[in-house]
Amino acid sequence: MPKNARMIKPISFSAAWVNKGLSFRSMVTLLAMLLSTLSLPAASIKTLIVEGQSNAAHQMSAVTVGIKKILADAGLFAVEIAATPAKGQDLSGFKPNFSAYDLVVINYDGDPWPVETRSAFANYMRNGGGLVVVHSADNAFGDWQEFNEMIGVGGWGGRTEKSGPYLRLREGKWVPLDLPGRGGSHGQARPYVVTTREPNHPIMKGLPAEWLHVSDELYDRLRGPARNVSVLASAMTDPKTGGSGEEEPVLMAIAYGQGRVFHSTMGHGISQMQCVGFIVTLQRGAEWAATGKVTQKVPADFPTATATKTRP
Ligand SMILES: [Zn+2]
Repeated sequence: MPKNARMIKPISFSAAWVNKGLSFRSMVTLLAMLLSTLSLPAASIKTLIVEGQSNAAHQMSAVTVGIKKILADAGLFAVEIAATPAKGQDLSGFKPNFSAYDLVVINYDGDPWPVETRSAFANYMRNGGGLVVVHSADNAFGDWQEFNEMIGVGGWGGRTEKSGPYLRLREGKWVPLDLPGRGGSHGQARPYVVTTREPNHPIMKGLPAEWLHVSDELYDRLRGPARNVSVLASAMTDPKTGGSGEEEPVLMAIAYGQGRVFHSTMGHGISQMQCVGFIVTLQRGAEWAATGKVTQKVPADFPTATATKTRP
């Protein structure tokens, strides 16, 4: 029995129920429904989504609501939200108690956090915290070295050749390459095939080798320290539509001290977050970042190599 499952007392059948007009079949159905509800794991992973600032291209508040719903739907996460003051305002009072959470999800791209808050967050991660970074959150904090170590690679936010190498797939291995060029780009949004690169990683176990993501920005030419990164999945960017012509990491797992980071470059906005592939990898990645394990099953409506799948 999973640690979080509640004990269920055996319930004895009573013939009296049947006499009161409830058929045996409907009683069994009812009982099965009751049991499946009771045996759901409690939403015990304490999660904090941090938001408050983003660039104009991103619907920050709607994305936060979307992430919260996706995590709530997994039934494993108890989610709270912490918002910073708006851009240009005084952030000195922004001091979430990170250590009270199993997981922090960053949906933020804006002014630097106060030194004290940055240091508290780095300590939280070094001591075994969990972090999820979605899409434009990897645009944040271009000059915060510890954050860049956590996310592996990032884009924009002043990132240049000085920010670190690209991660490039060469002869089946991901290698950091110090090539000239920009730090962060994407071609025209379009549907793209996601290729699994670490099929035995807990987040990826049971997912198809290839699946089709809905039309989304495919981040390319991300740069950073690129250390302790497992590229879980990648996608080919087409130079004809403004891409790099390389396999680009789209799902990454990064070790930072005792902490675990799940970094998904997918999910520009609400319609991209309806992709079942985005939803499921976020739910699995979040559980892994918080606990080091994944207990969720792969759902039947997962996309295939040729068909996208969405949920309302
Ligand atoms: Zn975007």
